[in-house]
Amino acid sequence: MVIVMRSGASEQEIQEIVDLLHEKGLEAHVSKGEFRTVIGVIGDDELVMQVPFQAYRSVERVIPILKPYKLASREFQEEPTVIKVGDVQIGGGTFTVIAGPCSVESEEQVVESARIAREAGAKLFRGGAFKPRTSPYSFQGLGEEGLRLLARAREETGLPVVTEVLDVRDVELVYRFADVLQVGARNMQNFLMLKELGRQDKPVLLKRGMSATVEEWLMAAEYILKEGNSKVILCERGIKTFETGTRNTLDISAIPAVKGFSHLPVFVDPSHATGIRDLVPPLCLAALAAGADGVMVEMHPRPREALCDGSQSLTPDGFRSMMEEVTRLAEFLGRG
Ligand code: PEP
Ligand code: MN
Repeated sequence: MVIVMRSGASEQEIQEIVDLLHEKGLEAHVSKGEFRTVIGVIGDDELVMQVPFQAYRSVERVIPILKPYKLASREFQEEPTVIKVGDVQIGGGTFTVIAGPCSVESEEQVVESARIAREAGAKLFRGGAFKPRTSPYSFQGLGEEGLRLLARAREETGLPVVTEVLDVRDVELVYRFADVLQVGARNMQNFLMLKELGRQDKPVLLKRGMSATVEEWLMAAEYILKEGNSKVILCERGIKTFETGTRNTLDISAIPAVKGFSHLPVFVDPSHATGIRDLVPPLCLAALAAGADGVMVEMHPRPREALCDGSQSLTPDGFRSMMEEVTRLAEFLGRG
């Protein structure tokens, strides 16, 4: 259920409704919009029905939410969620590029990558310190040392850092170094970790599981939102289909679809979706045209030497020319 408060309802009136819900053992999530405050009510619908909202002048309407996700839905919040990472704005009309290598390999590699990313116009820097690899024999990432190197890159460039947290036991550690905590596709339904991230105050970039429906993805976001962290960024990264020409199939249609269902910002990762460097720039343009709030791409100063995902990593020159194309299209579309 969503309770829409009358425009001009006072803080005291809003608190009165929140207290009433708490008395009934219901959870209240308050969202203050430009014109109205809405209160998302989570709990047994039968209990919600027993509350005599019509007796309160401050309440304008009570709307049932039929979707299984509530806080992630457009019914709960009509305006798009805008997330601030330092000075960088995510969502709300801007188009933000996150770039960096698949994994942190050395101080030189990570600082060099971050400089190239910043100079070409990326607003956030990515790099994995904990890597979810299909084979246990593949490079697993530098762990805590990798996080320290990411912090060095941030110091050098001022770019906020996005990095993956692979295990609930590492949330505290990754939180200390990251500006945005990434949940990888393989962990999209790691509900314990989603709950833990819901108790943090830093943004979470939630990748779509490679076999997850849009609804399952939004339910995963709901786990984070329900615990109180409203800073969730969704990231489409390709899904498994019968197609073998690309690593996964980038679901471009998910962008406008999710934007219709949810107020959360939607990013696209064409690097992991395709596994092929040359397909990354055109799909970034497609993501922008389809209404995404940004993209996350892999870029390595020397892709041939990359310890992970070299074949999908853009070269510095490739990244720069992609950024020029993205800028031209963004201007044409009137996007920031
Ligand atoms: C990544 O971004 O480093 C990554 C492993 O992506 P995904 O979880 O989408 O495979
Ligand atoms: Mn990768």
